[in-house]
Amino acid sequence: MSKLSIRDLDLNNKRVLIRVDFNVPLHAETREILDHTRIKETLPTIEYALRHHAKVILASHLGRPQGKPDPKYSLRPVVDRLRMLLDQSIGESINVAFSPDCVGDVALELADQLESRQVLLLENLRFHPGEESNDPGFAKQLAQLCDIYVDDAFGSAHRAHASTEGITHFVKQSAAGLLMEKEINFLGKAMHSPERPFVAILGGAKVSDKIQVINNLLNKVDVLLIGGGMAYTFLKAKGQEVGKSLVEDSKIEVARETLAKAERKGVRLLLPVDHLLADIFAPDARTLLFRGDGPFPAEWMALDIGPETVALFSREIEDARTIVWNGPMGVFEMPAFADGTMKIALAVSENAAALTVVGGGDSVSAIHQAGVAESVKHISTGGGASLEFLEGKTLPGVAALTEKH
Ligand code: AMP
Repeated sequence: MSKLSIRDLDLNNKRVLIRVDFNVPLHAETREILDHTRIKETLPTIEYALRHHAKVILASHLGRPQGKPDPKYSLRPVVDRLRMLLDQSIGESINVAFSPDCVGDVALELADQLESRQVLLLENLRFHPGEESNDPGFAKQLAQLCDIYVDDAFGSAHRAHASTEGITHFVKQSAAGLLMEKEINFLGKAMHSPERPFVAILGGAKVSDKIQVINNLLNKVDVLLIGGGMAYTFLKAKGQEVGKSLVEDSKIEVARETLAKAERKGVRLLLPVDHLLADIFAPDARTLLFRGDGPFPAEWMALDIGPETVALFSREIEDARTIVWNGPMGVFEMPAFADGTMKIALAVSENAAALTVVGGGDSVSAIHQAGVAESVKHISTGGGASLEFLEGKTLPGVAALTEKH
């Protein structure tokens, strides 16, 4: 990685502001944290800073409070959970204080009072409109709290906000946290120097959401496997009648051009060859396995890939040395149509030799649902950010970090 990492810095006794992603799901009434995965994921960076005697200041957003304070979106419930998780993993109790505002006199005073190996969590950054508008005045106020800035919130790196981009203009050193560094390394390796064969698996609902990813990947991969709802716009573009399956009529031409581009580039673009059809879009629909490139029965829709497609895709996955997966192969939220996605998750996890990157909320939950998360090399924490990385875009939060010399 060409960017400065927290591991390159002298943190001793310094005020280190770490942008974390504590955007955790909360219970609507009790405000109890329902899932603390995001807090756990950034613990290695926090612990690293504490071990190196930093004064740790944590900043995050939570939900969409529209630029003003709203108790519904307070980060206060995170304090106890963070303390508990730190106690568990470090084995000693760490002082975690809370600042009711992320900038201003109170925050400044609390940051100044911090001693080394203590933690201060700031209130929700988005209680100020300057966060999302990347207001330089607000960014400067954040910067005044610290000596060093560390970004560990990969999931927010595709947004140029005050806490991800603006702040870097007002501090001397901006470094990647350990989680951020891992994301950049894995995604960077896959996209810039992949071992071959490089196989990308794309699924999910719409062609329109992923067309830029497809275009960029066609310049990189050897094989592109397309499943899920978006496959049906491609099959339609090839002339197959696909009944009531999801088709974006306005994207048929784009799909046709994509197929031609794949051919020009020598990329093998594979589409499903059999399908699990349903008579209605419902968990208890009647189903029918359909093979071949003939017309689907007019009233039926494809909600999952069939076993021949699973076998075809799995063979490619087995041979791959680099795998990128984004998007489910079917409507996996309904058990009747989850099989294709689960089997692809399994095939991906069984290839231990490949560098594998799974990104996007749905494919990440599929990997967990299949119970194989442990054996996958890299599960990206940033849905939108990983998609933009795959699109070949520069992420403002990454670009803003200090270059290593
Ligand atoms: P995305 O957010 O674009 O990755 O799309 C994920 C969604 O695509 C999931 O909610 C799936 O249920 C849906 N999906 C996958 N395959 C199909 C399909 N064949 N027909 C309709 N929706 C699908």
